[in-house]
Amino acid sequence: MPADCLFCKIVAGEIPSTRVYEDEELVAFEDVQPQAPVHVLIVPRKHVPTLNDVTDDDAPLIGRMMRAAARIAETRGTAAAGYRTLFNVNAGGGQTVFHLHLHVLGGRPLRPGLG
Ligand code: 5GP
Ligand code: ZN
Repeated sequence: MPADCLFCKIVAGEIPSTRVYEDEELVAFEDVQPQAPVHVLIVPRKHVPTLNDVTDDDAPLIGRMMRAAARIAETRGTAAAGYRTLFNVNAGGGQTVFHLHLHVLGGRPLRPGLG
Protein backbone atom coordinates (compact mmCIF):
# COMPACT_ATOMS: atom_id res chain seq x y z
CA MET A 1 0.00 0.00 0.00
CA PRO A 2 1.23 3.54 -0.64
CA ALA A 3 2.57 4.86 2.67
CA ASP A 4 0.71 8.13 2.33
CA CYS A 5 -2.74 6.82 1.39
CA LEU A 6 -5.39 7.93 3.89
CA PHE A 7 -7.91 5.24 2.99
CA CYS A 8 -5.28 2.46 3.06
CA LYS A 9 -4.57 3.61 6.61
CA ILE A 10 -8.29 3.55 7.44
CA VAL A 11 -8.57 0.03 5.95
CA ALA A 12 -5.56 -1.05 8.04
CA GLY A 13 -7.08 0.52 11.16
CA GLU A 14 -4.14 2.91 11.54
CA ILE A 15 -6.53 5.85 11.32
CA PRO A 16 -9.81 5.48 13.20
CA SER A 17 -13.13 5.46 11.40
CA THR A 18 -16.69 4.44 12.14
CA ARG A 19 -17.11 1.25 10.14
CA VAL A 20 -20.58 0.32 9.01
CA TYR A 21 -19.74 -2.72 6.88
CA GLU A 22 -16.75 -4.85 5.95
CA ASP A 23 -16.00 -8.09 4.19
CA GLU A 24 -12.94 -9.72 2.65
CA GLU A 25 -12.78 -7.20 -0.20
CA LEU A 26 -14.50 -4.04 1.04
CA VAL A 27 -14.65 -1.66 3.98
CA ALA A 28 -17.41 0.94 4.43
CA PHE A 29 -17.22 3.79 6.94
CA GLU A 30 -18.87 7.09 7.80
CA ASP A 31 -17.63 10.15 5.92
CA VAL A 32 -15.95 12.48 8.42
CA GLN A 33 -17.68 15.51 6.85
CA PRO A 34 -21.13 14.16 6.01
CA GLN A 35 -23.07 15.97 3.30
CA ALA A 36 -26.31 14.20 4.24
CA PRO A 37 -27.68 12.24 7.22
CA VAL A 38 -26.43 9.11 5.48
CA HIS A 39 -22.96 9.60 3.98
CA VAL A 40 -20.95 6.42 3.81
CA LEU A 41 -17.78 5.71 1.83
CA ILE A 42 -17.24 2.21 0.42
CA VAL A 43 -13.63 1.39 -0.45
CA PRO A 44 -11.84 -1.71 -1.71
CA ARG A 45 -9.24 -3.10 0.69
CA LYS A 46 -6.75 -3.10 -2.17
CA HIS A 47 -5.33 0.20 -3.29
CA VAL A 48 -6.86 1.39 -6.57
CA PRO A 49 -6.34 5.15 -7.11
CA THR A 50 -9.31 6.07 -9.31
CA LEU A 51 -12.06 4.56 -11.44
CA ASN A 52 -9.67 5.02 -14.37
CA ASP A 53 -7.42 2.37 -12.83
CA VAL A 54 -10.16 -0.26 -12.56
CA THR A 55 -9.47 -3.20 -14.87
CA ASP A 56 -11.83 -5.74 -16.39
CA ASP A 57 -10.67 -8.13 -13.66
CA ASP A 58 -11.91 -5.60 -11.09
CA ALA A 59 -15.43 -5.52 -12.55
CA PRO A 60 -16.81 -7.94 -9.90
CA LEU A 61 -15.32 -5.70 -7.21
CA ILE A 62 -17.25 -2.71 -8.54
CA GLY A 63 -20.39 -4.82 -8.57
CA ARG A 64 -19.83 -5.74 -4.95
CA MET A 65 -19.35 -2.07 -4.06
CA MET A 66 -22.69 -1.22 -5.68
CA ARG A 67 -24.41 -4.11 -3.89
CA ALA A 68 -22.91 -2.95 -0.60
CA ALA A 69 -24.27 0.55 -1.29
CA ALA A 70 -27.79 -0.81 -1.72
CA ARG A 71 -27.50 -2.92 1.43
CA ILE A 72 -26.23 0.03 3.46
CA ALA A 73 -29.07 2.22 2.12
CA GLU A 74 -31.51 -0.49 3.19
CA THR A 75 -29.94 -0.78 6.65
CA ARG A 76 -30.10 3.00 7.09
CA GLY A 77 -33.73 3.11 6.03
CA THR A 78 -33.17 5.29 2.96
CA ALA A 79 -33.47 2.63 0.25
CA ALA A 80 -37.13 3.23 -0.56
CA ALA A 81 -37.10 7.03 -0.19
CA GLY A 82 -33.96 7.26 -2.29
CA TYR A 83 -30.26 7.89 -2.18
CA ARG A 84 -27.31 8.62 -4.46
CA THR A 85 -24.13 6.70 -5.27
CA LEU A 86 -21.19 8.59 -6.67
CA PHE A 87 -17.61 8.09 -7.78
CA ASN A 88 -15.66 11.32 -8.09
CA VAL A 89 -12.86 10.79 -10.60
CA ASN A 90 -9.66 12.86 -10.55
CA ALA A 91 -9.32 16.49 -9.50
CA GLY A 92 -11.69 17.87 -12.12
CA GLY A 93 -14.31 15.38 -10.97
CA GLY A 94 -13.98 16.47 -7.37
CA GLN A 95 -11.79 13.59 -6.15
CA THR A 96 -9.60 14.57 -3.21
CA VAL A 97 -8.59 11.16 -1.83
CA PHE A 98 -6.88 8.98 -4.42
CA HIS A 99 -8.05 5.58 -3.20
CA LEU A 100 -11.20 4.49 -5.02
CA HIS A 101 -14.35 5.16 -2.99
CA LEU A 102 -18.06 5.07 -3.62
CA HIS A 103 -20.11 7.74 -1.85
CA VAL A 104 -23.54 6.70 -0.57
CA LEU A 105 -25.66 9.75 0.22
CA GLY A 106 -29.19 9.73 1.56
CA GLY A 107 -31.48 10.30 4.50
CA ARG A 108 -32.76 13.58 3.08
CA PRO A 109 -34.23 14.63 -0.26
CA LEU A 110 -31.43 15.22 -2.77
CA ARG A 111 -31.85 17.74 -5.55
CA PRO A 112 -32.61 16.27 -8.93
CA GLY A 113 -29.59 16.20 -11.21
CA LEU A 114 -26.05 17.05 -10.14
CA GLY A 115 -24.69 20.28 -8.74
P1 5GP B 1 -13.71 12.72 -2.70
O1 5GP B 1 -13.82 14.23 -2.69
O2 5GP B 1 -12.29 12.26 -2.90
O3 5GP B 1 -14.68 12.05 -3.62
O4 5GP B 1 -14.19 12.25 -1.26
C1 5GP B 1 -13.32 12.12 -0.18
C2 5GP B 1 -14.21 12.06 1.04
O5 5GP B 1 -13.41 11.59 2.11
C3 5GP B 1 -14.78 13.42 1.47
O6 5GP B 1 -16.21 13.35 1.48
C4 5GP B 1 -14.19 13.64 2.85
O7 5GP B 1 -15.10 14.24 3.75
C5 5GP B 1 -13.81 12.24 3.29
N1 5GP B 1 -12.69 12.17 4.18
C6 5GP B 1 -11.51 12.86 4.09
N2 5GP B 1 -10.68 12.53 5.10
C7 5GP B 1 -11.34 11.62 5.85
C8 5GP B 1 -10.99 10.90 7.03
O8 5GP B 1 -9.91 11.04 7.60
N3 5GP B 1 -11.92 10.04 7.52
C9 5GP B 1 -13.14 9.86 6.93
N4 5GP B 1 -13.99 9.00 7.49
N5 5GP B 1 -13.50 10.52 5.80
C10 5GP B 1 -12.61 11.38 5.27
ZN1 ZN C 1 -4.97 3.38 -0.72
